Amino acid sequence: MATDGEVLTPENPRGLRDLPFAVPNVTSAERARARRIADALRAHYPDAHCELNYRTPHELLIATILSAQTTDVGVNKATPALFKRFPKPMDYAASSAAEIEPFVKSLGFFRQKAKSVHSAMTDVVERFGGEVPRTMDELLTLRGVARKTANVVLGNAFGINVGFVVDTHIERLSKRFGLADWDANVQQVERRLCALMPRDRWCELSHQIIWHGRRACQARRKGCGDHPVCRGYGTCCELRG
Ligand code: SF4
Repeated sequence: MATDGEVLTPENPRGLRDLPFAVPNVTSAERARARRIADALRAHYPDAHCELNYRTPHELLIATILSAQTTDVGVNKATPALFKRFPKPMDYAASSAAEIEPFVKSLGFFRQKAKSVHSAMTDVVERFGGEVPRTMDELLTLRGVARKTANVVLGNAFGINVGFVVDTHIERLSKRFGLADWDANVQQVERRLCALMPRDRWCELSHQIIWHGRRACQARRKGCGDHPVCRGYGTCCELRG
């Protein structure tokens, strides 16, 4: 056992000391329960994956920027033509936000998103040699990129787990599963998940939780208490209101 409840194990060899925040203390019983939920999610959603379509790290970065407050399905409809017209980061940098807009106008906030995509790709070209950076700090310097987007890119494009993606599904499910308090904010949910879940599975688990949120865990909580992922873990339907 290291500091802050950090456990060094074969699956978590570096511990959590390199994270830019302190993880909360959790008990071994809480961690064991979280592990059982993680195993149930893996058993039920073994093929869970990022549902944004992309072929390269810069395409994933763009798709994730575009996905803010819209569906992955909507983004996947827009990106084929966008990626065809602008195959490389330098193609965006040589263009303008106004030239990107027509390709993303089916999405909400498309003017802001076009500006973010143009600015981020220009920075990738001018400051990072045309390669998407691989650190949280560098990614956060790009327009349109907050922790959630950076975690998506690092985990999926590079296999780097330095945080836990917390979208609306993961926030809701974490609370319904009893992994975070009902009144926890997004930052607190991320830190709890980092403390509770095996680090080498953070990215995989983010997809499995999102898949459960999209496919089973509806806002109304109707008829789902017997779901194999939830049964037996003291879910919201049984114990938590
Ligand atoms: S029991 Fe239903 S509402 Fe509760 S976490 Fe499971 S799927 Fe969601």
